[in-house]
Amino acid sequence: MSVASIHWISGPVLRARASGPFALREAVRVGPQALLGEVVRLVADEIVVQVYEDTTGLRAGTEVVGDGLPLAIRLSPALLGNIFDGLLRPLSGTGSAHVAPGMRAAAPAALAFVPRVHAGDFVTGGAVIGEATGATGRVQRCLAPPDAAGTVVRVAGAGTCLDTDPVCVLDTGGGATRELAMSHAWPVRVPRPVRARLPTTTPLVTGQRILDSLFPVAKGGRAAIPGGFGTGKTVLLEALAKGCDADVIVYLGCGERGNELAGVLEEFPQLTDSSNGRPLMERTVIIANTSNMPVAAREASIYSAVTVAEYFRDQGLAVALMADSTSRWAEALREVSGRFGELPGEGGYPAYLSSRLADFYERAARVDTLGAGEGSVTVIGAISPPSGDFSEPVTSHTKRYVRAFWTLDVKRAQARFYPAVHPLQSYAENALEFAPWWAAHGNVAWPRLRRRFLTLLDDEARLERMARIIGRDALPVRQQMTLFCAGLVNDAFLRQSAFSEVDRVCAPARQAAMMRLLDKFIDHADAAVAAGVHPDALRALPSLRPLQRMAEDIGDAEIRRLHDLEAALDREFADLLHAAESAHATDG
Ligand code: ADP
Ligand code: MG
Repeated sequence: MSVASIHWISGPVLRARASGPFALREAVRVGPQALLGEVVRLVADEIVVQVYEDTTGLRAGTEVVGDGLPLAIRLSPALLGNIFDGLLRPLSGTGSAHVAPGMRAAAPAALAFVPRVHAGDFVTGGAVIGEATGATGRVQRCLAPPDAAGTVVRVAGAGTCLDTDPVCVLDTGGGATRELAMSHAWPVRVPRPVRARLPTTTPLVTGQRILDSLFPVAKGGRAAIPGGFGTGKTVLLEALAKGCDADVIVYLGCGERGNELAGVLEEFPQLTDSSNGRPLMERTVIIANTSNMPVAAREASIYSAVTVAEYFRDQGLAVALMADSTSRWAEALREVSGRFGELPGEGGYPAYLSSRLADFYERAARVDTLGAGEGSVTVIGAISPPSGDFSEPVTSHTKRYVRAFWTLDVKRAQARFYPAVHPLQSYAENALEFAPWWAAHGNVAWPRLRRRFLTLLDDEARLERMARIIGRDALPVRQQMTLFCAGLVNDAFLRQSAFSEVDRVCAPARQAAMMRLLDKFIDHADAAVAAGVHPDALRALPSLRPLQRMAEDIGDAEIRRLHDLEAALDREFADLLHAAESAHATDG
């Protein structure tokens, strides 16, 4: 144990004269309330500490105590279904929740344990030593800590105990033993080790058409959602948390106003998981650090969240981490760095902003875990650039580390076109690696259809610029038809309400069927133009309205109705073309 004495304090940052050795990143307790802090700099006998709690009332001379250990959180099967602050201390109830000063961790939780190892087994780090079942009935794997290794001396029989009680004793050699519990501590800033990182091959199915079909992210991939105020970042992240096909969701509410997060905190506990009818919270962990909570804890919350995500990954699960918003996290970094007196860089942020962002996104991966087979962490971070300026540092640095970039557009949002993902300002690198997956999920033609949609939307932007100058009616008929078809792709396919009972999640099979149907429509429209049909004639097709409304009207369980619609369109276009040809014949 080392002790230091405070001689300077500014908000969440303090300096103290040390009378014993401290380590960089060591966790410390400050003052009589044992407020949690972390050593962020060592200069001779002086330590600089950032405090994760309200420092009001601390003064010069107050003691700082360290045990030599880094800032760590306790990872347990009992985390699922709960709401925590940025240091993984339980928050009960709503956004206004309060954590008692100096409180360290959740109270131990009772879980039913079933052993999966026997005396004499050799256990290595990350191995599955047993299974734990909490109040929800969900079975999880209990992992040996990544740094554990030894021969099992004793293991508890099946029964209920606290997640901090020893359930297994290892002989670690040389007469030493180590007790393992269902939970273990892990330092938040250290990525949990894996056997190997694996290439990503499978998309995270989000249920959002514009994402899955145009800009897919991999399970184990990284995506960013930049968007100005009110463009729908939070609604989209929530829609992903509710609808994506990950096994576990870690939702980080980081530095947003309390009332924004209150939505998540109040709504999530009421929701059911459409895939199995169980409460959604059973597979969710919420970490909340609202703007009224201490700023330094916000900096830590992003590491706590990704560590929790890695912990579930290490159980062999697909985990999705949603962070809202990484900009608020970066602002915390800037504020604390300013208090240290560090030289500000671009935008006032410290020079290490970029490497911190890299460290965070780098922890997303599909991996071969130490002891539980394959697992993944997908990271999706919202960015709220001040005044919607995407050239600012957080957006531009994040761009270097993510593969999928889902830009929310103010104009779309103002037109209440949701999700307001801009199809031309968004991208997904290497999207074509998912072609085999789509082929196996009912969309063999996906690469071609995707390219056709993107090209059409690109043409639309170009033609609209032209139409603004010369007027839409002055465009050649073929180009008017392009605009007509692009409008249809926007309204019938890209638009998707997060609040629609039928459409808030769209299964891949329905996405595929809708894409094929629109592809067919565009073919028909091309043939119609060639036969001299004006786009206005298409507005009279009886099936046009059902086509425009298909997302809302035809749910995942009724995909067959999309085929009926296709048959109707075939007939109507055939009639249209026939009429056009007869008219020609008469003219001639
Ligand atoms: P941000 O987090 O970017 O500031 P929000 O996610 O809070 O914005 O969205 C603002 C409002 O826009 C929401 O309250 C909602 O009315 C509307 N909205 C956003 N996204 C959608 C969506 N996908 N479907 C329907 N409405 C949406
Ligand atoms: Mg928001």
